Amino acid sequence: MPKNKKVEFRNHYKNGAAPKGQTSRTKTKSKFMYCRNCGNEVSEKTVMCVACGTPPKAGNKYCYNCKTETAANAIICMKCGVSLKGENVIEGEGKDWLTTLLLCVFLGWLGIHRFYTKHNGIGVAQLLTCGGCFIWNLIDLIQIINGTFTDADGHKLVKK
Ligand SMILES: [Zn+2]
Ligand SMILES: [Zn+2]
Repeated sequence: MPKNKKVEFRNHYKNGAAPKGQTSRTKTKSKFMYCRNCGNEVSEKTVMCVACGTPPKAGNKYCYNCKTETAANAIICMKCGVSLKGENVIEGEGKDWLTTLLLCVFLGWLGIHRFYTKHNGIGVAQLLTCGGCFIWNLIDLIQIINGTFTDADGHKLVKK
């Protein structure tokens, strides 16, 4: 390589523009993440994890960024601080907001809305206590209305 060519390359770097070949290589290289269900390293675009057979973003056991085990309802990873909610929530996974609201209003004292959102243990408890003497039922209702109520998998209710 002639000397003046080398200088040209260096100038390219200085101006922030990488040589042509390099840019296209970085673009095609796919990012990696860890399967949120089993911690297996998968491509970010993978639809189904080869190790456990579920969508890698659907799990809630591992941080996709650092493979640390996370709590099922964790919002951010305790180790690396990445957000575990939002972009990782698969659309359409959550239960219907209106159905949950109506069940809570009319059959909440039987814990039906809890069964609907897969909180079966709490559902039984509410069934036996008439929705915690209606107080528990009322708290659930407020949470449903202000959008903080989640189903047993940590998915927010979906307003259709
Ligand atoms: Zn997996
Ligand atoms: Zn992490």
